[in-house]
Amino acid sequence: MNKYIFVSGGVCSSLGKGVAASSLGALLEGRGLNVRMVKCDPYINVDAGTMSPYQHGEVYVTDDGAETDLDLGNYARFTRGPLSRANSITTGQVYREVINKEREGRFLGRCVQVIPHITDEIKSRITAVAREDPDNDVVIVEIGGTVGDIESIPFLEAARQMIHESGRINAISVHLTLIPEVAGGELKTKPTQHSVKAMQEMGIQPDILICRAPAMLNEATRRKIALFCNVESDAVFTSYNIDTTIYEIPLVFFNQKLDQVILKKMGVESRHADLDPWYSMMERFKAQSGTVRIGIVGKYMDLHDSYKSVYEALFHAGLDCRVKVELVKVDSTPLEETGNPADILGPGGHNVDGILVPGGFGQRGINGMVKAAAWARTNKVPYFGICLGMQIMVIDWGRNVLGWEDSDSTEFNQDTRCPVISLMEEQQGLTNYGATMRLGRSESVVEEGTKLFAAYGTKRISERHRHRYEFSNVYRKEMADTGLKLAGFTPDGALVECVEWPDHPWGLGVQFHPEFKSKPIAAHPLFRDFVAAAKDAKKTRETC
Ligand code: GLN
Repeated sequence: MNKYIFVSGGVCSSLGKGVAASSLGALLEGRGLNVRMVKCDPYINVDAGTMSPYQHGEVYVTDDGAETDLDLGNYARFTRGPLSRANSITTGQVYREVINKEREGRFLGRCVQVIPHITDEIKSRITAVAREDPDNDVVIVEIGGTVGDIESIPFLEAARQMIHESGRINAISVHLTLIPEVAGGELKTKPTQHSVKAMQEMGIQPDILICRAPAMLNEATRRKIALFCNVESDAVFTSYNIDTTIYEIPLVFFNQKLDQVILKKMGVESRHADLDPWYSMMERFKAQSGTVRIGIVGKYMDLHDSYKSVYEALFHAGLDCRVKVELVKVDSTPLEETGNPADILGPGGHNVDGILVPGGFGQRGINGMVKAAAWARTNKVPYFGICLGMQIMVIDWGRNVLGWEDSDSTEFNQDTRCPVISLMEEQQGLTNYGATMRLGRSESVVEEGTKLFAAYGTKRISERHRHRYEFSNVYRKEMADTGLKLAGFTPDGALVECVEWPDHPWGLGVQFHPEFKSKPIAAHPLFRDFVAAAKDAKKTRETC
């Protein structure tokens, strides 16, 4: 029998439910269990692919090319279990499936309703994840939103039914709430009590409470919460504010024995806990000294979540390089209009040690990114281009090395005479924008003797894509003949996947998204080498 843990949230959003669910996953994996993570998103979008990064944050991409909510990125950073399309369930998907079945006449004339048809579809999607792998022990299901929201009711009802049908030993509820501090420093438990009442109204009695609080809750407060929320006295945990890193949270929970209590409740024999990778990650964190400043030159700068995986991957690289990475978010739009990159990025401005141009869509800010790339190239400042950031390198090479003023991507200028980046044939004429890009995992072959090869140490790599446009093969020869290094290709040689600047400490762009595969306990080699190059560049500058 598979086990299920439903993680819900109360009081308000942004309490770190994704991180709490992921940390729980990490702890159970540390106990040798096979864990799968599932996110239920109450929105009606079929997937996150069509949502603006300004409003909703980054779109996370899985190996099988699903465009999902950024919480899957948290799961990928904290846990090992595979993630695919099946691990992200949205109201849009569920309704689409049920309506398709209804149109096919599969409900045999019955009235199609939220209960049981929508809830059954949710349940069957959750159990499908458990069944996918015969060795699966536990599925952790995070229910998006806050209890009380209209949208999440069908998901909570599906959870209630699954707890009822599986029995409490096989399915439990973990509820995350907030313990606010009011003037005078007093901690208030009432919102938590109300939130648990809201869960009880949905028919779910939480088994475990995780309370977000400014500091560790004392025994008396925990006992009071247990009494009024009807949970056992050992079932109240604190997710207190920490000034280290979110990656310490698995250890914060472990020290409070969260995993032991859950295993006991679910009747799983306690196994030896191996959290060594997390302890050694924290040692690397504490061993960091000094900082490097990385300028992220992009267009979705106001919302931190827009480039979430990129920022996290830089942090992971800082752990490996024993240096703190300071993020300097530079909006490329002012740079495009009047700004001089030397003033904005150089010693008189942000004084960055490296520049990263991340992925993006649409024309605004592009010329600012090209200026930043040209500045990094000519001033030997380490540069890392991801997806759009690689395309920017190619546009710059055309404009500023080959002297083609018109060098551009057809995404930004359809009439350019030098379309160095252009649409793949299969993308031409598409009018449906949902899930129609080059998406998901594909392999690349790496040229030996390149920085790309130095990073991976292998000729064959696998990374994830999410883009429509490609390096145009028409310009391959002229670009390569003038020194731009073509460092990686698709296995059939048809597409360029990576370019590098010659005579430069570290200037590299990749058409794929390495940030999706970086973990705190295993930094991605490209991010690691980029941050190492930035650290070296800073040292060289300081000793000059
Ligand atoms: N807009 C570019 C393309 O579609 C780059 C996409 C990205 O950076 N993810 O090819």
